[in-house]
Amino acid sequence: MLDSIKALGVLEQCGAYLHGHFLLTTGLHSNQFFLLARLTERPELLDAWALVLARQLEPYGTKTVVGPAMGGIIPAYAVARQWDGARVLFAEKDDQDTMRFKRGFRIEPGESVVVVEDAVTTGSSVAKVIDAVKQEGGRVAAVGALVDRSQGPLRFEEPLVSLVKLGEIPHWEAHDCPLCRQAVPLIRPKA
Ligand SMILES: [Zn+2]
Repeated sequence: MLDSIKALGVLEQCGAYLHGHFLLTTGLHSNQFFLLARLTERPELLDAWALVLARQLEPYGTKTVVGPAMGGIIPAYAVARQWDGARVLFAEKDDQDTMRFKRGFRIEPGESVVVVEDAVTTGSSVAKVIDAVKQEGGRVAAVGALVDRSQGPLRFEEPLVSLVKLGEIPHWEAHDCPLCRQAVPLIRPKA
């Protein structure tokens, strides 16, 4: 297990863990944000994380890794890279907002897989990937995430392992936001 504080330090240094004043996709404001693409753009950093996550996922006994597009694709590949004979697939949203396997990806009936995601917040993308795996007749043994920033029940029941588990991340409605009151500029971090 990576030391969580040390891991957060790495994320801060590479620009993946930001402090400021952020508009979240939910419309809420927060003083912290994760842009894990800033970690995954650095293979030499990501490999160390992927190795630890691969070890945590090994007991689940499968070498088929599924990543939700987009954020999960690179972490899933990095984890699969640690195992001889692994396969790595990704599921992507269709125009109904359902996750599906395209591009000829196949899961065999009864095949067990692990899902690897960059960050889990509510688990809604992961839950949609789990549905897609079940649709193909497979099953999800476990979910691995670089960062677990969930703050309540997840939208899936499969076990979750993560490298960094965060405590509560402050967030506010705009009218209650202390950073708005201080006139700190609001950023849309993924734009
Ligand atoms: Zn604000």
